[in-house]
Parts: sequence; structure tokens; C-alpha cells
Amino acid sequence: MSFESLPPLGLHHTGPDAAESTTLPARAGAPRRPTVSVNVGGVMVGSAHPIVVQSMTNTDTANAEATAIQVAQLARAGSEIVRVTVNTREAAAALPEIVERLRDIGVEVPIVGDFHYNGHILLREFPGAARLLAKYRINPGNVGAGQHHDANFATMIEVAREYDKPVRIGVNWGSLDQQVLARLMDENARAGSPKSGTDVMIDAMVVSALESARYAEALGLAHDKILISVKVSSAPELWQVYRQLAALCDYPLHLGLTEAGMGMKGIVASSVALAPLLTEGIGDTIRVSLTPEPGAPRKLEVEVAQQILQSLGLRQFLPQVTSCPGCGRTTSTFFQELAQKIQDYIREAMPGWKGRYPGVEDMQVAVMGCIVNGPGESKHANIGISLPGTGEDPRAPVYQDGRLLTTLRGPRIAEDFQALLEKYVEERYGQTIRG
Ligand code: SF4
Repeated sequence: MSFESLPPLGLHHTGPDAAESTTLPARAGAPRRPTVSVNVGGVMVGSAHPIVVQSMTNTDTANAEATAIQVAQLARAGSEIVRVTVNTREAAAALPEIVERLRDIGVEVPIVGDFHYNGHILLREFPGAARLLAKYRINPGNVGAGQHHDANFATMIEVAREYDKPVRIGVNWGSLDQQVLARLMDENARAGSPKSGTDVMIDAMVVSALESARYAEALGLAHDKILISVKVSSAPELWQVYRQLAALCDYPLHLGLTEAGMGMKGIVASSVALAPLLTEGIGDTIRVSLTPEPGAPRKLEVEVAQQILQSLGLRQFLPQVTSCPGCGRTTSTFFQELAQKIQDYIREAMPGWKGRYPGVEDMQVAVMGCIVNGPGESKHANIGISLPGTGEDPRAPVYQDGRLLTTLRGPRIAEDFQALLEKYVEERYGQTIRG
């Protein structure tokens, strides 16, 4: 048998889902689910605004210096809102110093206070903290039990009204309001066809969030002062709970997988969990809850959140470096090192580039390992280099805007390519300013 003797390969879809396939969105990023807009310390969160990246510190908030340093690192990495735990009187008392230290070094990022158990006490006792925080996170499962529950919750809402602050009703499956869960369990037991325990837990999370939001509004908090999150630690359950919640309200949603885990597991789990919801238009601000590896910088969670949004085409934060995985055709590590070096260089340069070179975040750079896909991929990029594979001539053609620009040789290929990249950025994106 030869290729010619095979029947032609039709590319039209003949399967049973042919009609359905025409309704799929053409690209990632369905229209955002419509929400009100909430102002969090000057950062607007809601469907009319870009999806906001946020993060959380892991320093002892009572240590104002360490916390201010980490908030600054997170903000410089691109976190647009930073949350700190406010768990003790010492932590609440440190907030004015934290904010002052940040403002002294020009960091204006909104700081959110994360409250559990004693928020009603700390917000009343420390008006300086209440005034400086841009938003209060309230966990309805942790505001007190029985008769204290509603009173403590009401105190926090009163403070929010007094200082004109928004709140996030942040439900977490690990600290779900037991009264709501017990009520729904009882109702389920009496139902004709009871739901599974997981489905009841998901219902309870949604009910806890929406009843708390309704109570906050009944206490006088404006509708556009409320955001909601309902976090679980498994991707399929996250999809279920957020889809349910999204269909029932127009509050902006804070999206995140809780306790995502460490390193690669946490990054993959968060990406898998968030991507389908974001693609459906669900989620107005995201946080990636990574457990940092010992000694690893906290800012990784910001970089992962940015990369998730950028990979889905929902936001563009920094130029994309395309590099091949390498294979037996390139046995040296030189091209891996160059790809890493260029990626690091771009990340370092980006804060300075952002103001000087508008649009530079859309740039595509290719660093490829050999002649097989190197020239083709490099031509598709704004600027790309095709390094020599094993046994190829020791030369590296560089392509710019689809054309061969030059061919680099010798021991300084990495430095020379970086210099060409710098020149390209200045000429291409500097022109935007000069008109
Ligand atoms: S471009 Fe070359 S080195 Fe890179 S994966 Fe493809 S064949 Fe291998």
C-alpha cells in the first residue's frame, strides 16, 4: 500500500457531536460572567476589569519589617492586591508601620486583612488597622458559634460600613459553617432522593456564602462592597462549587484552589483547577495557594497566577519566551541555559520596560535547539534564535520579524543575542512613544 492508494482524509466532522462542536468558543476566554465592580483600595475587581492577580504573605504580621519586605516583593513581582493575616493584637497593631514602610519605598499595593475568630475584636480595638486595610476577609465559618455568630459578623460589617471598605465573604471547605452544613444535611436526609455527601457540602458552601452576603446587605453594606470565594482543594469540586455560585449571584468571585500543595504538584493542580472556570468567564481575581519549598521565594505564586492568565490569553504580563524541549539532536545544555537566561533577563527588565516601551508585554521571543523547528519557530516570533544542534555548523541564525537578521558564531552567542533583543525592544517599542 502507498500513500496515494489511501482514501482522502476528510477534515469535516462526521461524529455525533458535529452540531455541538460549532458552538464551541473560537478561543480561550468566553465572555466574563457579568458582575458588579468592587473597588479594593483603588484596584477595580469585576467583569468590567482585567482579572486581578493577588497573593498572601507568610511572614508573622506582627513583624512589620519582614512583612513589609515580603509585601513589596510580591507587589514588585506583579501582585495587584496583597493579603496579610491579622490574627493577633500585635499583628493588628503592626499594620500602620507596615503600610508606612511600604509607602516610604513607593509601594502602593492595597493590603487586605485576613480575619478568623477574632476579627470583630481586632477591627474594633485597632481603628488604625481598620482604616488602612483595603478590604476585610471574613470567613463565615470562623466568626463564632451559636448566638455569637451573627453578632460577631455584624460587628465586622459595621466596621466595614464605617470605614467604607469592601469585604470578601471567604468560605473554605476546611472551616465550613457547621450550622449551615448540619441544616442542609438534615434537609437532605428528609429528601426523597438524597444527594451525596459531597454535593451537600458544596450546596452548604454556596448557601453559607450567599446567606452571609445577604445578611451583610441587610446590615447596610452596599451590594458593590462584597466579593465571594468558596475554596476547596480538589479541581472537580472547585468547578462544581464555582459554577453553582456563579449562576446565583453577580458578586465578583475570588478564585483559587485552597491548599494546592507544593512545587510542581501545586502549580499543576492550580492550573488545572482554574483554567476551565476562567475559560468559562468565571473568576474576577485569582490567587494561587502554593506551599513554598524551603527557601523558595514567595513570589512564585504570583508568577504562576500571571502565567495561568497569560497562557489562557486573558492577560499579558510579560513577553513570552518559546523554547523547544530539546531532544537527542541537541545534547549540550547551552540552549537550555540560554532559554533560562533570556527568560530571567526579560522578567528582570520588565518593570523598567513597562513604562518606557508600551506593548512590549506582547513580544514573542524564541530560543530553539536545532535546525528542525528552530528557523520556523524563530520566524514566527518577533525575535528568535535557532541554535546549532549536535553535529550542525556552529552558527546560530537570528530572525527578526520573520526575516533573517544575522548569524551569530563563537563563544559569545548568548551575550550577542541578548544585545540584539535589547536593541529590538528599544527600536520596536520605543517608537510607540516617539510616534
Ligand atoms: S527544535 Fe530540534 S532540538 Fe528542539 S526539540 Fe525540535 S528537533 Fe529537538
